[in-house]
Amino acid sequence: MEKVYDAIVVGAGIQGSSTAYNLVKNGQHTMLLEQFPLPHSRGSSHGQSRIIRKAYGSEGYHYTEMMPEAFRQWKTLEQETGITLFKQTGILFCGTDGETFMTDVLKSLHKNSMPYTSLDSKDLPEKYPMLCYPPDSIGIEDPSGGVLFSNKALVAFQSEFIKHGGALCDNESLVDIIPGDIVTVKTSKGRYKSRNLVLTVGPWATKLLPRLGIHLPLKALRVSVFYWKEKIPGTYSVEKFPVVIQEHGTSNNHFYGLPCLEYPGLFKFCCHHGPEVDPDKRDDVDSSWVLEKTKACISKQFPLLEPIPAITESCIYTVTPDNNYVLDRHPDMSNVIIGAGFSGHGFKLAPVVGKLLCELVMHKTSSYNMSHYKIKRFYNSSKL
Ligand SMILES: Cc1cc2nc3c(=O)[nH]c(=O)nc-3n(C[C@H](O)[C@H](O)[C@H](O)COP(=O)(O)OP(=O)(O)OC[C@H]3O[C@@H](n4cnc5c(N)ncnc54)[C@H](O)[C@@H]3O)c2cc1C
Repeated sequence: MEKVYDAIVVGAGIQGSSTAYNLVKNGQHTMLLEQFPLPHSRGSSHGQSRIIRKAYGSEGYHYTEMMPEAFRQWKTLEQETGITLFKQTGILFCGTDGETFMTDVLKSLHKNSMPYTSLDSKDLPEKYPMLCYPPDSIGIEDPSGGVLFSNKALVAFQSEFIKHGGALCDNESLVDIIPGDIVTVKTSKGRYKSRNLVLTVGPWATKLLPRLGIHLPLKALRVSVFYWKEKIPGTYSVEKFPVVIQEHGTSNNHFYGLPCLEYPGLFKFCCHHGPEVDPDKRDDVDSSWVLEKTKACISKQFPLLEPIPAITESCIYTVTPDNNYVLDRHPDMSNVIIGAGFSGHGFKLAPVVGKLLCELVMHKTSSYNMSHYKIKRFYNSSKL
């Protein structure tokens, strides 16, 4: 008799890998399918580092509520694999006094009773003389946050998945789906049957979901990752400098930086925006404006970095208009579950996302309020 999986998860980025890990640990017979040979650098989960923080601003305080569990789950994964996945560096939020970005960050820390330190416009340059912000800038320090070692985290989920009996099939892409109580999944190499299908296809959701009759306002954006050389070695070292997240004026001026951890002497500093792109032609788009904007910021505000990047890498965000994730069932195929639109802030919460998608598959009560992540919010929205 043909084998029937409990779940097939399509897409072995961080969300699919975490979901597959949660399923297999809950006794579900699971396959994780990935179109490219692993590891690869074509989607959203590659690279050495991601920021993890408890404070959340405009994206919504409901993410802050999930962060204590995310931190606990990352720790569990570290213990299971014996691999260090997290480095606590603290997070410095910077912006203009009185502007929404800073007030939102403060509110989220307050609302969740999380410790922080405020730095006024005098304290900030005193504590961080290597920064040169406009005089009305203030800072908020969240000591709990830091850096996740993302490529190691991805491998950790996948290896635990395999260890618990999961089937990981890479270099094999989903080609077609025949819906039903038992879904038939056609791939580039064969056909499989499963009671449930989870689609965590990252930026490819912009192409796959319309084929399944779901038209979401998702956009794939190419994001450039820049590394800048210190003029004086050690200035932005992890011993002296935290992760920085800054916004001055509008959200178009949202940048983030990570201390020198990955490549010796190189500070990672990037703009939170980029041009829209077809994920199959990621590099076929002009993103010179992102480089110019980031260079201008570095020249003015980080005087102790060389103002030309030493290394540039690329990655893709999949954004929704409200920056909230999509974690929901297909409206007409109840055993097809979708995880998409992680809007440039999905990595840190991947352990919780995997748990929530697993709960949907297994018809368990959700651990958190899922109303923020529903597909139907787009159909009620005037933004469409
Ligand atoms: C530069 C950058 C910096 C970021 N920084 C942070 C940060 O500091 N903190 C944070 O929390 N988040 C951050 N993020 C966001 C985070 O990395 C993403 O939200 C997360 O990686 C999304 O994972 P995913 O699994 O949804 O997508 P992906 O990693 O893209 O995975 C989807 C997978 O599906 C596969 N796939 C697609 N179609 C098919 C098919 N037909 N058949 C089989 N497989 C298929 C793809 O090949 C891919 O491997 C950042 C993202 C970028 C790009």
